[in-house]
Amino acid sequence: MRDGITLSISAMTARIVIVEDDPSVAELVTLYLRNAEFIVAHARTAAEARTKIEETKPALIVLDLGLPDANGLDLFHEIRGHADTPVLALTARAEDVQKIEALESGMDDYMTKPFNPKELVARVRAVLRRVAGMPGGGRTLIVGNVRIDPARHEVHVGDRPVSLRAKEFELLEAFCRQPGIVLTRDRLLEDVWGFAYPGETRTVDVHVKQLRDKLTGADAKIETVWGVGYKLVAPS
Ligand code: CA
Repeated sequence: MRDGITLSISAMTARIVIVEDDPSVAELVTLYLRNAEFIVAHARTAAEARTKIEETKPALIVLDLGLPDANGLDLFHEIRGHADTPVLALTARAEDVQKIEALESGMDDYMTKPFNPKELVARVRAVLRRVAGMPGGGRTLIVGNVRIDPARHEVHVGDRPVSLRAKEFELLEAFCRQPGIVLTRDRLLEDVWGFAYPGETRTVDVHVKQLRDKLTGADAKIETVWGVGYKLVAPS
């Protein structure tokens, strides 16, 4: 029974950052995306966007081009400079549309305000499906025989698909992004659970145990570093 529930949650929980200074638009988009079971983080400015994108490593960014502290297209180029995260642009201005159309590569899709939030959700899904289907586009992480695909939200040990709950998935993703590096319990709490549970390090221990149990047959091991935390060790 539990596995059935697990699958339906983990299949959909891709993280999205919405960069939008207009609170009403941000609220509406956040509401619709959350109802579609995405995990949504909101940034009001380009400065906030840089932090949120770094923190959450989203599967997709919804980017308003009219930001108070930067030109949205400049921010787009900056994002593209160091990541292939898909971007769906929001614009209120016809001249921006022309600029977007002039971009030879990059922008994955755009919508002109006002837009139907249901259509935005549909387009987000379409972009994520398209990116997941491209070789390397989903930025699959591989450590030993463990393969984690954040865009599709899938995990394999060898050829065996592994069903993980949302937090187990995020925990494994955190380990796979930094194999061999010791991650403290506090750091993992911050990365995976946010700041809401200071000192609740037992939560991390419980999830690590569950993750170890589910990763039977993996040659990459989550090792305990006594008094510090955990690290994912790849086979030599
Ligand atoms: Ca704006």
